[in-house]
Amino acid sequence: MDDDAELLSAGQVEALLDWFDRYGVDYPWADTREPWAIWVSEVMLQQTTISAVQSRYIRWMERYPTPGHLAETGEDEFLRDWEGLGYYNRARNLASAAGEIVRRFGGRIPRSYDDLRSLPGIGDYIASALSSFAFDERNAAIDANGRRIAQRLSGLEGWDKSVENRFRKAVESRMPREKPGRLNAAVMQLGQLVCLPRSPRCRDCPLGGSCLARAQGRQDEIPLRRKKTIVELRTPIAVLIDECRVFLQQRSSGIARGMWVFPARTEIPDFEMNWKIVTNLPVMIHAYTKYKEHLEPGIFVPRHGNSPAFRLSGGGKWVESEGLDQLPMPTAYRKIAGQLANHSLLPCVPGVEI
Ligand code: SF4
Repeated sequence: MDDDAELLSAGQVEALLDWFDRYGVDYPWADTREPWAIWVSEVMLQQTTISAVQSRYIRWMERYPTPGHLAETGEDEFLRDWEGLGYYNRARNLASAAGEIVRRFGGRIPRSYDDLRSLPGIGDYIASALSSFAFDERNAAIDANGRRIAQRLSGLEGWDKSVENRFRKAVESRMPREKPGRLNAAVMQLGQLVCLPRSPRCRDCPLGGSCLARAQGRQDEIPLRRKKTIVELRTPIAVLIDECRVFLQQRSSGIARGMWVFPARTEIPDFEMNWKIVTNLPVMIHAYTKYKEHLEPGIFVPRHGNSPAFRLSGGGKWVESEGLDQLPMPTAYRKIAGQLANHSLLPCVPGVEI
């Protein structure tokens, strides 16, 4: 055993695995060895909370039980099924990778780390998690949870590639012979349940006796946090209605690429001249990691009878009101669409005039 292994001692690993056997949570994806099921869960869990993923995961796996099922589905349809999970590039990458699984690997997910890394959207973390959980490969999957635990155990305020490589070697050298992926799962769950980013529950921690940050009373200061600057934006939104149709624009770039939205009023040529307001709707918040957008929707109808022709970047189309439900929309826009239906503001509802 070399010095690197001392970043995670044999005693710590034993205590951690024992804790995992007793207190590890039985998530819907925890017990499976099926690589597609593991892959989907790891992709969904990136940047989305466990509670949000749990119900969505089961639905997705019923709908797409194999990569082949996803590969043969159109983008609008699988993005609609991903709705609410955010970061829609993940779904697009998953679908592209599913297509490659079918074309290059005959529908079977490869076990080699290098083959996995060659697929769209698969970085070191997912390749390691997938190969260790499904194929018992000794690859350490180090995510934010693992980094935070390693830093606190060793009292390290910062983190860099060389420390990560040393920690990786330590985890890999300590992995149990049988089901080596259990150590990856134990580290992840300790980070999710006990060694939390804020206010870690050190009294319940199986590693409490050997944790330098705890011994020094610095567990809340490690890792050092950079102050996040959140940019606040205001976007006046136009829900354009013409008889029984609603206008939607397709996003052509950004993290919601491919999703359908109500356009910003500023993007519509001669807006004031051609459209008149019927009513304003409640403001919706669209929050991302670095910015918070306040969407201010209003319902508009043509000022002069017929709706004027116009073009928008990314394209757009008039949709029959009942067709709104078929197209994928970011959550905040789906809520705006829900307002139309909830308040009987959609056109073509008997007895409603706008
Ligand atoms: S003792 Fe506290 S800070 Fe240290 S690993 Fe455990 S939960 Fe994290």
